[in-house]
Amino acid sequence: MVAELIAVGTELLLGNVANTDAQIISQGLSALGITVLHHTVVGDNPQRLAEALETARNRADIIITTGGLGPTYDDLTKQTICKTFHRELELHEDILEDLKTWFQTKMGKKMPENNIQQAMLPVDCTIFDNPVGTAPGCAFVEDGVHVLMLPGPPFECRYMFEHRAAPYLEKLTDGVIVSHEIKVFGMGESAVEEALHEPMTTLTNPTLAPYAKTNECMVRATARAESREKAEELLTPLVREVCETLGDVVYGVDVGSLEEVVSGLLAERGLTLAAAESCTGGLLSKRMTDLPGASKVFRGGVVSYVNDVKANVLGVPREVLEQYGAVSGETARAMAEGCRRVCGSDLAVSLTGVAGPERDDWGNEVGTVYAALAGPEETICKKLTCGRGRGRDRVRTAAASNALDLIRRFLLKLPL
Ligand code: ATP
Ligand code: MG
Repeated sequence: MVAELIAVGTELLLGNVANTDAQIISQGLSALGITVLHHTVVGDNPQRLAEALETARNRADIIITTGGLGPTYDDLTKQTICKTFHRELELHEDILEDLKTWFQTKMGKKMPENNIQQAMLPVDCTIFDNPVGTAPGCAFVEDGVHVLMLPGPPFECRYMFEHRAAPYLEKLTDGVIVSHEIKVFGMGESAVEEALHEPMTTLTNPTLAPYAKTNECMVRATARAESREKAEELLTPLVREVCETLGDVVYGVDVGSLEEVVSGLLAERGLTLAAAESCTGGLLSKRMTDLPGASKVFRGGVVSYVNDVKANVLGVPREVLEQYGAVSGETARAMAEGCRRVCGSDLAVSLTGVAGPERDDWGNEVGTVYAALAGPEETICKKLTCGRGRGRDRVRTAAASNALDLIRRFLLKLPL
């Protein structure tokens, strides 16, 4: 099965908004084992949308559009699709009633006249009701081509893809598609690909594919089979093989982020963490507190950006700062130990480094970062080279991720 995405919206062409819907849907389709060969973006223009649809219907089995399902004059997707595929639009009284209720309960006002448009759907379609917004999506088949329409707002698009489009598409393929994600930190995508080149290039079912993410990568194993059990039978040995080949850079299979894994490990052990951050300006603390229920494992942090704060709040000795400089293993250790004391946590992590764009007064290159972890018995420290040459943002994100991985390795007693 080949799918093509058509994103509708002039704001996408102008560069005001990035086409993140395409990313969401493409990722979802690849997990379903559906090949995506083209992404198209057209403005809110019926003629050019019609042209894009004509092109797509000749080369794809599935066309998915995003955007233009709303109630305003520029929302023309449904009308244009119906014209192109020679279908009528019909009013759905029940959807209209739902819309009216939605406006009354969620917005506390009467439904504007315009919104009647949203209750108009192609004849003979599968309705994708939308509990997270007003515009329902829908799907129909014409000449063997499945046309699916999803709303534009990314939150709605994600929900509607996962809960409406994906189940619809799953039914089109024989059997089930199951995949597992092997998450990797500390080994680049090309090294991962090299290590797994053979299975990645030769396997057909299950398949193995690499995905790069910021500072980390992921390997997805996917199998197609008549039942979930059969698919798992195909996947289990492969996932085991990948984990064995890659070793301890694998931080989990089907897990969330690195911070989620660290949080889980801390919770299992009944330990708490705190963070003293210089170059990352609180990024690690932010990532830890992005997780609901973070207070069980994360006590707090100190953004100790200048030396005075390192000394006055964390108690880093002035001699240490003067002798070794702010970016040094000695300072990182003293920051972590001071933070552990100040925050009253079992463990404290610290980060101090050069985010750039210039090297520091001590001659440390951009990307030089020291991460330390203080515990009840010892303090460990690691010198890192983070995202060199790719801007402050990359250095800071990489530094925070590396520190999280340091905590993971410490808790699992893996080599640092
Ligand atoms: P609404 O009912 O909100 O009008 P809609 O289905 O008509 O939804 P649009 O009007 O095209 O969708 O877009 C609504 C919002 O979603 C806009 O803020 C737009 O920038 C954003 N959006 C639309 N398409 C995309 C896309 N492909 N990727 C990311 N954001 C998008
Ligand atoms: Mg709209």
